[in-house]
Amino acid sequence: MKIISIETKKVELKLLRPFTVSLGVIKALPSLLIKMETEDGYIGYGEASPISFVTGETFESVEAAIKAMSTQLIGMDSSCIEKIHDTMNRMFRENNCAKTGIDIAIFDILAKRANLPLYKYLGGSKSSFEVDKTISIGTNEEMALDAKTIKEDGFNIVKVKLGLDPADDIERIRSIREAIGPEMKIRIDANQGWNKVDAIRVINALEKYNIQAIEQPLKYWDLEGHRIVKEKTMIPLMADESLFSPMDAIKIIKSNSFDIFNIKLMKCAGLHNAIKINSIGEAAGYECMVGCMLESNIGITAAASFIAGKTNVTFADIDSVLHIHKPEGITGGVEFKDGKAYLSEKPGLGIEVQW
Ligand code: MG
Repeated sequence: MKIISIETKKVELKLLRPFTVSLGVIKALPSLLIKMETEDGYIGYGEASPISFVTGETFESVEAAIKAMSTQLIGMDSSCIEKIHDTMNRMFRENNCAKTGIDIAIFDILAKRANLPLYKYLGGSKSSFEVDKTISIGTNEEMALDAKTIKEDGFNIVKVKLGLDPADDIERIRSIREAIGPEMKIRIDANQGWNKVDAIRVINALEKYNIQAIEQPLKYWDLEGHRIVKEKTMIPLMADESLFSPMDAIKIIKSNSFDIFNIKLMKCAGLHNAIKINSIGEAAGYECMVGCMLESNIGITAAASFIAGKTNVTFADIDSVLHIHKPEGITGGVEFKDGKAYLSEKPGLGIEVQW
């Protein structure tokens, strides 16, 4: 069951149109695909998709880290996920995207060897679930129109990027709520764009628009600030940039700074730690969302399998594949229809890659 080879391949993910968040504008990003082979004949696929202003990694740093880790991982038993993560952690303190690429490939192999789709290997809580679609920052009119289109496409949840200007942000949500009516759910992501006072003012003003949750109002390091905002507002706060590791999850719980966790595989070094964060959250009464970076259907299917695997993961924000030109040569995996994600019943990720 030894790992006998680890290969990588670059794929360019191009957005259908530029995407603006409070931290920057994204038009296209390269993603690194991983192909791992074991001596008993299994092939596992993984993906590492860094966004430097979130994860601190670049495509080049991820590529270099995977190359370096491969020298240690080749020859190791692919069944020993704990030992594999120990080995990666001894080599690199952070580099979580790179570790995620390896982690997904291993889980693909483990589930294939068990002859189970990955979502059942991870617990099999459900085989389909509701997903949101995200609106990039634009003018009020553009954002309201986008929200309407998303509703017409069959989605029941829209996620709205805010955080550039507090006064405009309230207006944006007013126009969006007016455009989509009272029923559809709205999630907000401020991507660290507000200060404490603005956050309290904006969140209280937004309460009448029936908002499901607000992600990351303040800077990632400011847990005390989030605690104060949480104390003075009523919309649940979700930790994204403040939450990378299981240890961060404990710090958030201890500081009472958020209500919900946003787990992303690329932030936490993959499924191995995602399982830990979700378990910590579940035991402390924190529901989880699973989000994504700009990823192909390999990373997205791993994320979808985790969401489907776990009962405590009740929010899904994995729409990156709906915003990009589908890269050639990647088939199978999770499918999206009418605002829902449907898992494949094939073993592992259920994905084929033309290599
Ligand atoms: Mg976020």
